[in-house]
Amino acid sequence: MEIYLQGMGVSPGIAIAPALFYSRASFEVPRRPITDVQAELMRLDEAVAKVRRELTSIYKKTVDAVGKAHAEIFRVHLMILDDVALRDDLAAQMEQERLNVEFILSSIASKYTEMMNNIDDQRFRERTADLLDVVDRLQRHLLKSDGPLLRHISEPSILVAQDLAPSDTASLDLDKALGLLVETGSPTSHSAILARALEIPAVVGISISQKSLSPGSLMILDGTSGVVIINPSQETVEKYQTEQQRLQSIQSHLLESLLSGPACTKDGTAVTLESNIELPLEIKHSLKMNVQGVGLYRTEYLFFNRDTLPTEEEQYQAYLHVASELFPAPVTLRTMDIGGDKFVKYLQNYKDSNPQLGLRAIRLSLAYPDIFKVQLRAMLRASAQGNIRIMFPMISSLEELRHAKAILQEARQELSSEGVAYNPDLKVGSMIEVPSAAVQADQIAEECDFFSLGTNDLIQYLLAVDRVNEKIAHLYEPAHPAVIRMIANVSSAAAAHNIPCSICGEMAGDPLYTELLLGLGVSSFSMASVSIPLIRARIAALNREDAKHLARDILQKKTAEEIKTILRSRLEG
Ligand code: PEP
Ligand code: MG
Repeated sequence: MEIYLQGMGVSPGIAIAPALFYSRASFEVPRRPITDVQAELMRLDEAVAKVRRELTSIYKKTVDAVGKAHAEIFRVHLMILDDVALRDDLAAQMEQERLNVEFILSSIASKYTEMMNNIDDQRFRERTADLLDVVDRLQRHLLKSDGPLLRHISEPSILVAQDLAPSDTASLDLDKALGLLVETGSPTSHSAILARALEIPAVVGISISQKSLSPGSLMILDGTSGVVIINPSQETVEKYQTEQQRLQSIQSHLLESLLSGPACTKDGTAVTLESNIELPLEIKHSLKMNVQGVGLYRTEYLFFNRDTLPTEEEQYQAYLHVASELFPAPVTLRTMDIGGDKFVKYLQNYKDSNPQLGLRAIRLSLAYPDIFKVQLRAMLRASAQGNIRIMFPMISSLEELRHAKAILQEARQELSSEGVAYNPDLKVGSMIEVPSAAVQADQIAEECDFFSLGTNDLIQYLLAVDRVNEKIAHLYEPAHPAVIRMIANVSSAAAAHNIPCSICGEMAGDPLYTELLLGLGVSSFSMASVSIPLIRARIAALNREDAKHLARDILQKKTAEEIKTILRSRLEG
């Protein structure tokens, strides 16, 4: 019998393949007496050389794919691998105990781990996982384990895992790993980010210990809707195969027509399509999709996977790089949205008891004005050469917007007095993702140059549904009438004040909502670049007047179910 599971789609696309369970290997380490310590050390050195090659290749691949900052972890692993003290300790202990290298390695690893865990410093505790990762790799080679190395998946599979470390995801065999089902995580977890960057469909938030899931069983994974079907019937497989082919043919068909100018409705209304990016690799994808700009650059990713703040110069270079690649198209730099589920250890040495409602985004920036100003200076400097807009996340009141703008003004004045160039006409916008800002949108519109609807958060805060909690994912409902009304309120406030209203939440990339959003007055859509062709196709099939009519009709509906029924029938034509 086929079983449907609902998770969170974090990387779009459909995969159909048997399940391959992956877990970090727990090795059976044998204990053997030895006579020749030198021979054991030679075995160790051979394993070290192999792991070094492995890590160097992963490091390079990750730099190319997602940039240096995200690859840093593998440089740390290489340093651990080449730690002379570790080898000296191993040699000394083998000499003393006359036991095989695997056994000694495992006992030294436990000793180090215990020591590191006892040090009252978060950084040491975090390094434990890195040490174990390296030891794991060494043991695989020493024991000639044929454990499930992700580079060597023998059959096309959907990988099922409780958790995937970045090193796992980065070493995936891309021809064989057709999809990812990961129990823990969120759209912003490392694995999800890399899956999107590598264009592997992925779903998170489904418990993998449930009985229905077993190794080898056929699965369908839909990375857009988050649906996973186990043991699908032949009929369901055929339905998804057809959908898969439809998506592939739209993608390839549209890749050609993408070069033919902006997206346009049937009746000739131009619609701006932009991309959301987090990592340098995504610029390449955005350019391939012929986007008209970057509607959301999540700059907080510059602050991850490192031990110190990025300097003004580092940030300036990063912003300038993206802006130059896209020039003359605009790039919307969102100031850091740290907090919530995006934790930066050197800025937050505490845990908020309710992080989604805690010191997050603009609140954190305003709490650390010096750090915020460094970011704003870097953005302003980049605006001298690139077409840059600045956008503030999680604005919940006019006071907050004014406070952020005042710090921006200070940054401008500093640069002016230093004789450093910036664009004095740079546009400054506000994300509308907190219900209070959406309700007060008419007043906020008076004091900013554009709006961008962050529906991911707007839905979470309006419906009181944590967006990363898989247990209440069924309550996370973009089609809730209150959500639609709120979007309508924001877009009409923008229109009344003659400022553009775009959308950069995930709703922008879901064709179910394109006609409705257009009818509600949203003028530009920003999304993961992989979704662009599909939305472009949808727009080409629409008519502006019909969309307005649909929006008026939907605004009268009282339940999400009614709304979705109408939207589905419109989509199916
Ligand atoms: C949103 O909240 O819709 C948004 C685009 O921002 P993020 O997903 O980064 O919170
Ligand atoms: Mg948000």
